[in-house]
Amino acid sequence: MFVSVRDLKVHFPAEEGLVRAVDGLSFSIERGKTLAIVGESGSGKTAASLAMLGLHGKAARISGEIAIGDAQVVGASESTLRRLRGNRMAMIFQDPLTAMHPYHKVGEQIVEAYRTHRSVSRKAARQRTLDMLARVGMADAQRAFDSYPHQLSGGQRQRVMIAMALCCDPELLIADEPTTALDVTVQAQILDLLKDLQREFGSAIIMITHDLGVVAEVADEVVVMYAGRAVETGTVRDVFYRPSHPYTWGLLESIPRLDHQRDRLTAIPGSPPSLAGLAEGCAFRKRCGHAASVPDGLCASQAPLPTDIAAGHSIRCHLTDTGRAAARSNPRQPS
Ligand code: SF4
Repeated sequence: MFVSVRDLKVHFPAEEGLVRAVDGLSFSIERGKTLAIVGESGSGKTAASLAMLGLHGKAARISGEIAIGDAQVVGASESTLRRLRGNRMAMIFQDPLTAMHPYHKVGEQIVEAYRTHRSVSRKAARQRTLDMLARVGMADAQRAFDSYPHQLSGGQRQRVMIAMALCCDPELLIADEPTTALDVTVQAQILDLLKDLQREFGSAIIMITHDLGVVAEVADEVVVMYAGRAVETGTVRDVFYRPSHPYTWGLLESIPRLDHQRDRLTAIPGSPPSLAGLAEGCAFRKRCGHAASVPDGLCASQAPLPTDIAAGHSIRCHLTDTGRAAARSNPRQPS
């Protein structure tokens, strides 16, 4: 596996208690494949991606293992992390306006980012920047180069961010909600662009998103996160056609689907728990309509461990095979 994350924990000490932003996350990705990490705000997906880049901040306590090829991220020195960022991995942020300097031309910003990671002349960096701007679909690369961020549309700015991220041919691209700020048609163009570039560059992509439409469009593998933990992991087919965790059921019931006729969409009741001092038991139990089906109050007393239910498909839930089958036939069973 090119990217391997094992038992990653990202904890922050806080007045209310230890905040377990990520608590035992494991996954892996091959080159040329896309893994989507999906979940609501506060599920830990962004904290996990920042830890992968070594950008978690000094207050965070990180443990576990993050391997990018032969390089280890956890415990690496700042100089090693700087070499890894840009050279082997890069990030595309949700809002390019905040990621770019407003008073510098976008082309110069890419040139500077490129020269931070590669020892090349300014002339060579300019040419590389123009080539990349053209490659990401900027019709007039020179004009884009000479533009300030505010002179570009949202979609153009995201193309510029992708050009900047890909300048150094990173082997791993982490895209944090890259299309959330864009309208639907531009979203589709940006996702198509990412898929094209992935085919060309062979990068692995981690797509952080709350949008299952994006997951269906781009992902090979999916990690569904809730309260800092992966509650379901599997292929995109597993998660869309054989979803097996009550939280995944809730996510899927809350989006419109062309292959399912429904009278109405169903929101998941309640809101995610505070990650500070999480109580014992399953973190999803207060929102779960199926806890009553599990005997002995297990959902309240024991946090479920990851269980393989098929090759490559795993969930954290106390429901048995029979319990899941019964729950699927009565998806809105009250707790
Ligand atoms: Fe629901 Fe219990 Fe499964 Fe948690 S462990 S998702 S509360 S059934």
